[in-house]
Amino acid sequence: MISPLQVMGNDAFRATLDLTLDAVFFFDADSLRFIYVNQGALDQTGYTRQQLLGLHPYDIKPDYPEASFREFIAPLQSGELNSLRFETRHRTRDGEDIPVEIFLQHIAPAGEPPRFVAISHDITPRQQAKNTLMRALDQLSDSEQRQMELLQLAQSEQNRMAALLSAMRFGILFTDQEGLVEYVNPAFRAMWAIDADVNLIGHPCREVLHHSAHRFSGPEHASRQILDTTDKRAIEETVELELRDGRTLTQQSYPVGKSSGRIMGRLWIFEDITQERQTAAQLAYLAEHDALTGLYNRHRFQEHLDRMISNARRSGAMFALLYFDLDKFKPVNDRFGHRAGDTVLVSVGTAASRLVRSGEMLARLGGDEFAILSELSTEEDAVRLAERIADAIANIPFQFNDTMLHLTSSIGVALFPRDGGDADELVAHADAAMYLAKKQGRNAWNIYRPD
Ligand code: GH3
Ligand code: MG
Repeated sequence: MISPLQVMGNDAFRATLDLTLDAVFFFDADSLRFIYVNQGALDQTGYTRQQLLGLHPYDIKPDYPEASFREFIAPLQSGELNSLRFETRHRTRDGEDIPVEIFLQHIAPAGEPPRFVAISHDITPRQQAKNTLMRALDQLSDSEQRQMELLQLAQSEQNRMAALLSAMRFGILFTDQEGLVEYVNPAFRAMWAIDADVNLIGHPCREVLHHSAHRFSGPEHASRQILDTTDKRAIEETVELELRDGRTLTQQSYPVGKSSGRIMGRLWIFEDITQERQTAAQLAYLAEHDALTGLYNRHRFQEHLDRMISNARRSGAMFALLYFDLDKFKPVNDRFGHRAGDTVLVSVGTAASRLVRSGEMLARLGGDEFAILSELSTEEDAVRLAERIADAIANIPFQFNDTMLHLTSSIGVALFPRDGGDADELVAHADAAMYLAKKQGRNAWNIYRPD
């Protein structure tokens, strides 16, 4: 083999090698000292030619100290390998490490000392490109991971939402912006008695209730307000729906918006408020009725009296207050028990209420004490009512065990405004008239007299 040095003049050879951009190093096979370096090698390492020619490959290879470098190149020296191509780092004169790819060959031209030729290619741009690619791949895998997590999050969010909607006692219906049903929950179907196998999804919202077995109690409910997708109000007021089976439902609807502010559809919420309504009605009833007899209680009596007084003051009309209390009621309790006493109170209430007309009000004020407010405006009329009350009570037959008995009552009458200018005075005077009747021997009525 003819060495290039032999073919070309030394200068021509150098000039050619200097034109190659890669770094070219020749080093002695034995001492490993650099014996030739081109311009590229100077550029790559930052050393002067003179400096480099005093160095060895391992001086510029931080990853290969002398011993391991010698070991590394041994297969080339022994002829076991023709050449080596490997990546490593070159340390420049400034201490900076640059990635390089080395092509290393052992050559032994005839008649010349064997040497190594190393061509070192700066692979910084390749490395950078590789790093950028790796980073991009990392980011891609990160974002895939994040997408997976978000998907899982959305899925579990959706599962939670479905569980929540299924467990809810509110009837829920979603429609899209075309007014087509997107979702109904089980409570909605149960509320309207729509079988689970009736497909509602994708059907116009207005048709949904055609599948319901339930009917509204009044024709006004057939109004446009129910599941009206043309309603564009931001928050619709609550619509109450009375069903023929006695239930009361409420309907509310809200527009469902995207974060962009666009409307995606509507959410409809139905609630069965029958129980609440009944409880409220019961509470209202209890607030003004006596639990034992079902008559109005003292509280309601007081309100009614106040109202009658202000009406009478305005119109100048008169009205009567009858106060009555059972005679010797306590002994009934004592002899026959409290329960027997209760039936007496209920019967008295029933008998008295039969005599009460519209415009009159009967109340149990407590214990065995009752009152009637009547628009009767003359003493005679009031007395006639008192007599009828007394008769009615006296005629109730009570049978306890083997004992038949009749109870009487004592009645006091006071007329507004003659016998009292305000509620307290009128009541006090009716009470006084009643007590006078008691004092006079009971089973009697008495009109209030100032003296
Ligand atoms: P008088 O002829 O003077 O009216 O005597 P009286 O025995 O009727 O006794 P009074 O009116 O002073 O008392 C009423 C009694 O009614 C006292 C109480 O034991 C009884 N009582 C009060 N509330 C109830 C009730 O809800 N049920 C029953 N069974 N008894 C009641
Ligand atoms: Mg009594």
